Amino acid sequence: MAAIVKVDFEYFRVPLEETLVDAKHGDHTHFELITCALATADGLEGIGYTYTGGLGGRAILALLRYDLGPYLLGRDADGIEALWNDLQWRVHYVARGGIASFAISAVDIALWDIRGRKSGLPLWKMAGGGGRTARVYAGGIDLDFGLEKLLANTRRYLGSGFRGVKIKVGRERLSDDFDRALAVREVLGRENVFMVDANMVWPVDTAIKAARFFRKETGALWLEEPTVPDDHQGYERIGREGGLAIGSGENLHTIFEFRQAIEVGRIAYPIIDAGNIGGVTGFLKVAGLAGAHNLPACSHGMQELHVSLVAGVANPGWVEAHSFPIDRYTARPLVLEGGMGVAPDAPGTGVEFRRGLLEPYKEIPF
Ligand SMILES: [Mg+2]
Repeated sequence: MAAIVKVDFEYFRVPLEETLVDAKHGDHTHFELITCALATADGLEGIGYTYTGGLGGRAILALLRYDLGPYLLGRDADGIEALWNDLQWRVHYVARGGIASFAISAVDIALWDIRGRKSGLPLWKMAGGGGRTARVYAGGIDLDFGLEKLLANTRRYLGSGFRGVKIKVGRERLSDDFDRALAVREVLGRENVFMVDANMVWPVDTAIKAARFFRKETGALWLEEPTVPDDHQGYERIGREGGLAIGSGENLHTIFEFRQAIEVGRIAYPIIDAGNIGGVTGFLKVAGLAGAHNLPACSHGMQELHVSLVAGVANPGWVEAHSFPIDRYTARPLVLEGGMGVAPDAPGTGVEFRRGLLEPYKEIPF
């Protein structure tokens, strides 16, 4: 028994260098970072976190502060899965699959940090020990970039060592998306991987048309979130009639939503985010579900953490190096070697925030 004796939650509103736009979430000017620090009676401390695209972070903080935090005090930090389940049920009536998933993620990641520090194991080993490296691609949030800027950005990614790039699609005219994708593909060449992400914007019929084009003309690896995330029948049609592998997951926030997306929607690339699926515990549950369907576990956002999880599992897919630079505020931003992300080897999650850099963005909303 390692009783939790201290909980502390903080909220940071971190500005982006420029406004980043995608098809459905709209303009991003900030990301919100919500941290959870836990301490146990045996003297261990762990830190967990979640993030948003700029909205809802204060609600996550409130759920943590008023409803989950007091409940954690005195509970056993060693019993992570049992606690994960208890936390789910505690707030499920008002928040299941929404802010509960984000709040529980922050707690769960802190618990895994403690587990690793206690056992001396890094996250990639705790996740399964499959390997220490993972394939990584750069995920642009670039829908409103002009063509020249989009291509310059692609070249910059290649220059930084990435061997895969994803661009946003879903502009007003489909032909515009097609032209941009062709131009980016030409810069990438066939030796690098290319993906497109529509951020849920299209009706099913438009998505099928787009999928056919991207498959035939650009050899894209996947089309991500072509339509509403829980229209699983729609996803199945898009994949089948469009002939292109479909990726989805950043807007699926329970294990059961992923099950539907895989079994009904027939997605080929489950894209999991430990920041909104219930932390490391949720990530590993979905990665296992993906494995049972012979699918690779990919990740969305939080590359500084996900590199360990994707590297460690038995069915590794691709890590997205997201355009929200959370890793810039950590002691060890994503490390790339030969196009592969290298997981940290320190005990725990290997993610340590640089408080000095974050401090100017701390807000105390209540
Ligand atoms: Mg996406």
